[in-house]
Amino acid sequence: KSIEIAESLQKLLVEHGLDKEVKIVKTGCFGLCEKGPIMVIYPEGATYCKVSVEDVPEIVEEHLVKGRIVKRLLLGDKEAEDVAKSLENVGFFNRQMRVALRNCGVINPENIEEYIARDGYKALAKVLTEMTPQEVIETIKKSGLRGRGGAGFPTGLKWQFAAQSQADQKYVCCNADEGDPGAFMDRSVLEGDPHSVLEAMTIAGYAIGANQGYIYVRAEYPIAVQRLRIAIDQAREYGLLGKNIFGTDFSFDIDLRLGAGAFVCGEETALMTSIEGKRGEPRTRPPFPAVKGLFEKPTLLNNVETYANIPVIINNGPEWFASIGTEKSKGTKVFAVGGKINNTGLVEIPMGTTLREVIYDIGGGIPNGKKFKAAQTGGPSGGCIPASHIDTPIDYDSLTELGSMMGSGGLIIMDEDNCMVDIAKFFLEFTVDESCGKCPPCRIGTKRMLEILEKITQGKGEESDIEKLETLANSIKKSALCGLGQTAPNPILSTLRYFRDEYIAHVKDKK
Ligand code: SF4
Repeated sequence: KSIEIAESLQKLLVEHGLDKEVKIVKTGCFGLCEKGPIMVIYPEGATYCKVSVEDVPEIVEEHLVKGRIVKRLLLGDKEAEDVAKSLENVGFFNRQMRVALRNCGVINPENIEEYIARDGYKALAKVLTEMTPQEVIETIKKSGLRGRGGAGFPTGLKWQFAAQSQADQKYVCCNADEGDPGAFMDRSVLEGDPHSVLEAMTIAGYAIGANQGYIYVRAEYPIAVQRLRIAIDQAREYGLLGKNIFGTDFSFDIDLRLGAGAFVCGEETALMTSIEGKRGEPRTRPPFPAVKGLFEKPTLLNNVETYANIPVIINNGPEWFASIGTEKSKGTKVFAVGGKINNTGLVEIPMGTTLREVIYDIGGGIPNGKKFKAAQTGGPSGGCIPASHIDTPIDYDSLTELGSMMGSGGLIIMDEDNCMVDIAKFFLEFTVDESCGKCPPCRIGTKRMLEILEKITQGKGEESDIEKLETLANSIKKSALCGLGQTAPNPILSTLRYFRDEYIAHVKDKK
């Protein structure tokens, strides 16, 4: 749709003789999916939403020719009503803090110069010319950055382990195999700001002593793949990838590897096995990737959002980053907010923001005046947080205490009409489909759990089935080989913890 709008706009600009004066810049995602497609016209900063091809003639004739704002297309927020204002002044955005998403929707991701104009590759220059590898690692440690892919392991420590491993060859990998249903944070960064990932991986290569990087990206993200390819070519052309970067002795290059859509390939050892050209199955750990990873060499693996934070940490300093967030969870986190909420989209918030602020202040509340019931965080690996915990500050530890997890950042909102047993079943069906089958607890156990859940939801269950389900869930959590199986029971365990009465209602309502 956006491409058609841009084509129609270009045609009309030519017809009105405005094509030399007005430049169309195609950007990445603004985050406000609910109101897309969005067009911002500068210098006024008029933000038009839900634009269609049919609206384009009016925008050209009224705004561009006569200088009159097309009020009916402006974002509905009060602040935008007087005169069009910049995105930062719109309700959905002004509670957010865009660090990882700083360039998304702002720059043309296919033009390296726009990235450079916003301090792009400045951090790499600083690192290569002013810092030792150990100083880079200390900076990342000091920032308190934790992995944004799920488990929240301290990033600086991970870099330290990879740097300490002695080998003739090391690798830096980027996990861009975002597979949680409803999650699209990494996709947005790759499509809107691919150079931030390339710059960060190159910094990581310098810090750990690697000269080759791989980005493992889903083939289902064709725009991300295309923009990454363009970005890699441009970075090579500008001497920012390849031999002797910035005239130093340091050389580093990056290649893409496309994933075929298996959820398990988002697990770090399965991802590396897949890059090696084998079937993407997890390996037992230890040895950990920092010691023996890709092609049996020490490997550093972080996800897209983690990398997107690195250049800003170097540029603004670790103290700046550590000043955002909570005591143990620093910085911001991007969430893909969906489900029963008015403003679906991507939001980036400082750690410690409450669920209530996300749902009501940023998300615009629950549609049709319905009551908020629960939020599912962390996708199929996470759990459900009930309305009674709506004022919990969102960070790694508080979510884990509640039986959920940060995960990669899926946030699905449920209202009073949602059945929590059905929600648990939805996620379990997903993990059963995606189990690689290597270990019995996951291959067989998740299927048995699903059978019990189906029995319960069909009104054929007994109270004893609920106990069996709980016992099985706890034992799979402890015995499965990889994160996929170990976290598969989470949606069941968290709904049993907070919504057991709904399970009981199903078995009492026997058919
Ligand atoms: Fe495969 Fe599941 Fe075992 Fe992981 S837990 S290795 S996905 S079968």
